[in-house]
Amino acid sequence: MILVHRRNEFRASKIMAERARANDKIKIMTPWIVEDTISDQTGLTGIKLKHAETGETKTIETTALFMAIGHRPNSEIFKPWVDTDDHGYIKTTNHTATKTPGVFAAGDIADPLFKQAITAAGLGCQAAIQASKFLEGH
Ligand SMILES: Cc1cc2nc3c(=O)[nH]c(=O)nc-3n(C[C@H](O)[C@H](O)[C@H](O)COP(=O)(O)OP(=O)(O)OC[C@H]3O[C@@H](n4cnc5c(N)ncnc54)[C@H](O)[C@@H]3O)c2cc1C
Repeated sequence: MILVHRRNEFRASKIMAERARANDKIKIMTPWIVEDTISDQTGLTGIKLKHAETGETKTIETTALFMAIGHRPNSEIFKPWVDTDDHGYIKTTNHTATKTPGVFAAGDIADPLFKQAITAAGLGCQAAIQASKFLEGH
């Protein structure tokens, strides 16, 4: 596996970065940028890379690419019913309630701070109970 990163340092926790560096199945390429993908009728066949400092380019053959380039909450479609912060996270009050009665938000889309599976699941449970109580009242 090849790990391509545009900077020489990683923002991940030090212990995870060290584990990746120590794993001989992972080749780390820094500071390189994935510029483009190459594909044919079979799907992905390669990626084009550019060196972030020298501008050198190269092509790597591959049939798989996993991208992890930050977080952007996909909240646009909910905007008629909810308020969002400057980064697109849905604003909630009273746990998972939004500005629209009966619309509850849970998980990473409403959590700019923790963004963990366990916190998302907890918020999901809260939203389900609040939705149930809302329906009972109607
Ligand atoms: C690389 C990585 C590693 C992680 N490691 C950990 C870890 O070790 N421990 C931990 O606790 N957490 C970890 N997390 C975080 C954890 O995955 C999230 O906190 C959790 O998945 C959030 O759950 P969610 O249901 O809120 O959102 P998601 O799991 O993101 O689910 C949202 C779903 O909505 C779908 N969707 C989006 N837009 C639309 C649309 N318009 N219409 C229909 N469906 C749509 C998406 O396809 C997705 O299936 C990690 C996250 C990443 C990216």
